[in-house]
Amino acid sequence: MSSKNPINEKNPRKRPLIEEDRPTTVMCTVVGIDHTDISYTVCSACEKTLPEPTHHNPSPVCRYCSFRNAFKPAGSKRLFRVLMSIATDTRALVVVMFDRAARVLFGCTADEFYEFAKIHPSAAMTASKVLDGEMLSVTLSKPKNGNAQHLRVASVVPLSAHFQPAIVSLREFYQARGPSQVCFLFFFFFLVFSVCFFFLKYIRHLLL
Ligand SMILES: [Zn+2]
Repeated sequence: MSSKNPINEKNPRKRPLIEEDRPTTVMCTVVGIDHTDISYTVCSACEKTLPEPTHHNPSPVCRYCSFRNAFKPAGSKRLFRVLMSIATDTRALVVVMFDRAARVLFGCTADEFYEFAKIHPSAAMTASKVLDGEMLSVTLSKPKNGNAQHLRVASVVPLSAHFQPAIVSLREFYQARGPSQVCFLFFFFFLVFSVCFFFLKYIRHLLL
């Protein structure tokens, strides 16, 4: 008796990437990174997720730790949580990369990246472009939380000999852009000043 779905048995594309519950290491290429939301705020003591800082509440406080130690409330910090599309030799899939793995690719802590992005608002988008196409060896594990959608990246090793963490490329990129912007502004103000100067000189010449 033949199987009802022989394609699934022969075609590796239809098999789950992780067939057992133990972590699996695969080689892949980064296809894309969701740069819109790459980190989140947690309590610096117990790492419980906290609400994002807002204008009204710039420093969210952990209720649990504040209750335990009202005299010295714990602060907050940021951790990476990055959704990344990868392509292996058989399929493309979206995986989630938490702080330890993401720090390998970004080369800094989520707090450092957050501060960098305050000065350069397009930093996360540029980082996703920088990491696009990067060859990686990733160890994927099944999420501990049964409701979680994506496989998680337990560890990551960049394969290219020329790999440099995103923050290094970003610092080079924005430093290279920086001086040209300063030169442009200097030239612009010089031009405005010159026009005003000659205009006033001309008016003075007409009046005298
Ligand atoms: Zn806490």
